Amino acid sequence: NNVLLEVKNLRTHFYTQDGIMPAVDGVSFKINRGETLCVVGESGCGKSVTAMSILKLVPTPPGKYVSGNILFGGEDILPKTDGEMRKIRGKDIAMIFQEPMTSLNPVYTIGDQIAEAIIIHQRKKRVDAIEIAINMLRKVGIPSPEKRIKEYPHQLSGGMRQRVMIAMALSCNPMVLIADEPTTALDVTVQAQILDLMRKMQKETGTAIMFITHDLGVVAEMADRVVVMYAGKIVEEGAVEEIFDSPMHPYTIGLLNSIPQLDNSGKKALHVIEGMVPSLDELPKGCAFNPRCKYAMDICKENRPELISLGDGSRKCACWLRVGRGKR
Ligand code: SF4
Ligand code: MG
Repeated sequence: NNVLLEVKNLRTHFYTQDGIMPAVDGVSFKINRGETLCVVGESGCGKSVTAMSILKLVPTPPGKYVSGNILFGGEDILPKTDGEMRKIRGKDIAMIFQEPMTSLNPVYTIGDQIAEAIIIHQRKKRVDAIEIAINMLRKVGIPSPEKRIKEYPHQLSGGMRQRVMIAMALSCNPMVLIADEPTTALDVTVQAQILDLMRKMQKETGTAIMFITHDLGVVAEMADRVVVMYAGKIVEEGAVEEIFDSPMHPYTIGLLNSIPQLDNSGKKALHVIEGMVPSLDELPKGCAFNPRCKYAMDICKENRPELISLGDGSRKCACWLRVGRGKR
């Protein structure tokens, strides 16, 4: 069995004064050993909440895990207590975020922070933990790591901080690494270096990566498989080549068209999908994408299309245009 993590029918809702926000609403997917699954969609589509749900980091209240299972190595971790989750977080499933400053503690040195994770999860002595920390920093391409471990987060550049985060995340050999927009705040050159580094580290360690991004350029670089989310639901899933060569859902097609391309004058032309992402407390009836979809039919405004399997089952799409071509 190659499946490492399976999310089944996950519903994470937020109970607010404005009503119930179904941030994640019936999401199911699997991550296999050693692969990179990219979760893509515009901001507010539920990708970060999905990631935070896997680690049970959603603040409850106002959030609530309404239904679902998160099977890690076959065991459901959604019912676990905070104490139990602390043993899983960082050790079995690690996470890196867009802005490392929010997850690095400004008052501790880099070395102390990496070492602490190693001491907690691997029961190492401090001297050994520091030794491992230095090695990890060297692996992620930080020059003179012996000096760097004595520095504080603010003394490092954004790119260096993200390398530290990767070093920290991988220092306990997690089975799964969840990366939420880890390169979004970085300039293009540094972004390319970090993506390279992540691929290289993955080859060495075999860690499965769940990579969250709104950037299809990043998806093309990183993904084995892709899940496309819209308004809290998965609307399309497939191998990366399938998504790029033969996208099925009109939203995916819109995302692909919105990759900046150079126009004749050499300027970047960005074709953004028209219309707004709907607010979660006022989702349109039927298909949530219908107000923005140029193919919308009557049925799209009445009934929500289910995610159906096409072909051998690994290819999925939720769109009325596809019904009849797949099997339920
Ligand atoms: Fe467009 Fe209808 Fe498909 Fe939704 S179900 S994406 S509105 S064609
Ligand atoms: Mg996000």
